[in-house]
Amino acid sequence: MKNVFITGGAGYIGSHCAISLFKNGYNPIILDNFSNSRSSVIKNLEIITDKKITFYDVDIRDKKKLISIFKKISCYAVIHCAGLKSVAESIRRPIDYFDNNIGSTLSLLECMRKSNVFKLIFSSSATVYDNNQLLPLKETNKTGNIKNPYGNTKYIIERILMDLVKSDYRWSIRIARYFNPISNHSSGLIKENPKGIPNNLIPCIIKVAQKKLPILKVFGKNYKTKDGTGVRDYIHVMDLADGHVAMIKNNRLKKGLKIYNFGTGKGSSVLEVIRSFEKHTGILISFKFTKRRTGDVAESFCSANKAIKELNWKYRYDLKQAMIDIKKIL
Ligand code: NAD
Ligand code: UDP
Repeated sequence: MKNVFITGGAGYIGSHCAISLFKNGYNPIILDNFSNSRSSVIKNLEIITDKKITFYDVDIRDKKKLISIFKKISCYAVIHCAGLKSVAESIRRPIDYFDNNIGSTLSLLECMRKSNVFKLIFSSSATVYDNNQLLPLKETNKTGNIKNPYGNTKYIIERILMDLVKSDYRWSIRIARYFNPISNHSSGLIKENPKGIPNNLIPCIIKVAQKKLPILKVFGKNYKTKDGTGVRDYIHVMDLADGHVAMIKNNRLKKGLKIYNFGTGKGSSVLEVIRSFEKHTGILISFKFTKRRTGDVAESFCSANKAIKELNWKYRYDLKQAMIDIKKIL
């Protein structure tokens, strides 16, 4: 069984990648400092996979500790999910975001190089695309002109990786640009579980459903979209996790750098998401319209044709299935 390291593997996306890796015959090794996750995730992964999960409590910026792990366990490839991810927090604490996200990536790259491991998948984001481009967004669309430190960390790391493959031909790097990951494994045992106050739509809807938030604020009702509310490309996290494995399997990690969008190619509005949640969970969501959120675009969805063609990947779960799975965690 090939070992695949997952930095941030106790987090939302990393933990779902662990399941998909295991299902496909890889051995996931989790590296996480639990700054935004809980150690109970490991136990729940063990229940889902019926297997002991190897994990290390490590800050990826700690090169000494990191390199000792690479020395101890042979590593086939690394999925690099570790990072801080809140746009709002990144505006308040930009240095922490640059230090943690960029610092951890530089540390990881150095330790990988010293350990002769050159296969890397990086968790990037749709946020790297320049706004106001024709939709659907393709990998060849313009990036940059980003308005917040979080997005800039993703953009800067992408540039670092692009420079790296140009100067050292040993690297196989894949940049996965996630659109809007939602939902959870069908067991309901692992889920998105941020430690602070959530900002994303689905976690906020869930908080309202659980009566931990009194009301959902819908940011803006007069966008030029199908119903005036913001439109996004929501992708089931298990489909996204399978996308990571698709980049790895069948010996696909050839040298060089490739970029893949991961989304469904379909946009759903905030109101459509609320209605779908209500229909498939049976819980009504009280909401009110408020002003637009600074920095939001009206509409964003991608073309995932490159992943479909080159990786033989396609999304399997629609919004309805995402909501049915969310019901398991309520
Ligand atoms: P998450 O916060 O649930 O998981 C990230 C994990 O990384 C956490 O478990 C955290 O404890 C860990 N971590 C953070 N800094 C670390 C460090 N220095 N050393 C070791 N561990 C560290 O977030 P997620 O939603 O799973 O996101 C994973 C990656 O995907 C992030 O890089 C994020 O920016 C990116 N991404 C997420 C989304 C999304 O909507 N969830 C969208 C686009 C991109
Ligand atoms: N949104 C909202 N209320 C919330 C959170 C989000 O109306 O409490 C809207 C937001 O304006 C956007 C959509 O939901 O149109 C998705 O937002 P999210 O933060 O989940 O993703 P992102 O905007 O980063 O793609």
